[in-house]
Amino acid sequence: MPSNKTLFSQQLLDWFDQHGRHDLPWQTDRTPYRVWVSEIMLQQTQVATVIPYFERFMARFASVDALAAAQTDQVLHLWTGLGYYARARNLHKAAKTVVNSHAGVFPQTVEGLMELDGIGQSTAGAIAAISMGVRAPILDGNVKRVLARYHCIAGWPEQSAVKKQLWEIAESLTPLERVADYTQAIMDLGATLCTRSKPACQSCPFQSDCAAYQQERTAEFPGKKAKKTLPVKSVAMFVVLNDAGEVLLQKRPDTGIWGSLYSLPESPETDSLPQLGGISISEPAGGKREKLEPIRHSFSHYHLDITPVCLRAGKQDEIAETDRWLWYPLDHSLEVGLAAPVKKLLSKLAKNS
Ligand code: SF4
Repeated sequence: MPSNKTLFSQQLLDWFDQHGRHDLPWQTDRTPYRVWVSEIMLQQTQVATVIPYFERFMARFASVDALAAAQTDQVLHLWTGLGYYARARNLHKAAKTVVNSHAGVFPQTVEGLMELDGIGQSTAGAIAAISMGVRAPILDGNVKRVLARYHCIAGWPEQSAVKKQLWEIAESLTPLERVADYTQAIMDLGATLCTRSKPACQSCPFQSDCAAYQQERTAEFPGKKAKKTLPVKSVAMFVVLNDAGEVLLQKRPDTGIWGSLYSLPESPETDSLPQLGGISISEPAGGKREKLEPIRHSFSHYHLDITPVCLRAGKQDEIAETDRWLWYPLDHSLEVGLAAPVKKLLSKLAKNS
């Protein structure tokens, strides 16, 4: 008679063999590099969104050496639209560390992997388990949801006591055999059956043992974070066009929001002009600047209301300080990373031009 823990992994693996996903691009050729890139992209992002980004990334940077040798702008360019850009910057930094300090070979332990930028315990566990067959538990958002429901663990999973309890359960359930498949399987089950709203319990292999299902309490788990209203900040962004139809962009500082990405010059008010890389502005007759429809961009901790203001560059449109400024062609033919709302705005302008 298998123990409850063995039964859990057996039921999960049987389900995975029949119903799991086996043809995702990172499931073929499961090298540490490919698994690592996929795991970082999949943080806070759905599989369907990640697939084309992963394929473009691999086509461009087929190995950790290729990624380490790239320019940050090229990496951010391929990340544009995926969001959470610190992930891309850390990926690039970690690639350089692997090449420069580990001779291009990924550390073979969870602890060693966690020393690389941007790799937490769950990501390290997934890389070690999937690409190296090391028995290591994982606890990403999907797994937290499955385990919290299976055991009716109350409380918000990011709270340290709750998280600790979930890690202990994850550790005790991770099998010695077929650990790569088990890891993929539990992530898959969380993503496809045990979904946030309306879990497909009728198709779930854990139906008869899942405490939340048995007690008809699936909606209660995992517990939610106490809600708070997000503050709203506002900013004016200046769309400065030159006669060639290019837009003036400014590289943001390396840290803070949209770090190292290119964005529009901004100021707190639509009436005040920021510094514009040394170019001059031709103010409209009557002094009334054209404002475009405002855009709201939401971060996890606040909303940003952006008012775009259109301006024409004057005769002096040569950029004086070139290293953080550029004229950006609206056909997106320049490979630079763009802040998400700026990319949207420029695409809209390109359509209308
Ligand atoms: S039975 Fe339902 S709630 Fe329980 S693990 Fe399966 S899908 Fe999730």
